[in-house]
Amino acid sequence: MNLEKLIRDVPDFPKKGIIFKDITTLLKNSDGLNYAVNLLYDFAKGKGITKVAGIESRGFILGGILASKLNAGFVPIRKPNKLPAEKISATYELEYGTDKIEIHKDAIEKGDKVLLHDDLLATGGTMEAAVKLIEELGGEVVQIGFIIELCFLNGKDKLKNYDVVSLIKYD
Ligand code: IMP
Repeated sequence: MNLEKLIRDVPDFPKKGIIFKDITTLLKNSDGLNYAVNLLYDFAKGKGITKVAGIESRGFILGGILASKLNAGFVPIRKPNKLPAEKISATYELEYGTDKIEIHKDAIEKGDKVLLHDDLLATGGTMEAAVKLIEELGGEVVQIGFIIELCFLNGKDKLKNYDVVSLIKYD
């Protein structure tokens, strides 16, 4: 199955000059959704993963399904001021300014084996911050999975000590 055909390019979203990779066209296709989930599951299975952490918001979708298939728990990593209980945060650089993500303090236990998931790897700043959150709580990042990797932005350089997998690569 050609997953790339199920991704929609949306020009000038969210800003002029950006071509947004839209995964909703993949998600609504039952064969495409199952195929993508099973590929990511095959990468992750057998590694003793105890938690899947997904990044808001598109990382919640396949992250949740993968957690269930792996018999692992699901942990949301969210934008600021969304999580209700005690939390820690990590700040990362954007093109202009900074952004922040947060995780509940009790979401990860020491020794948890964690699969991190997001829909897309661009510069890697978001995922690098997510790795910090997991490790600060004593978790071990066993694998990092994406649907899409924009290889020309070299996001993998920020994640070079980790097992990074992606299903669709744009050079
Ligand atoms: P990074 O921190 O530069 O790697 O950006 C990755 C984050 O931005 C992820 O959470 C993605 O969901 C989001 N993102 C950036 N570009 C796109 C896109 O073209 N489609 C979908 N999400 C994107």
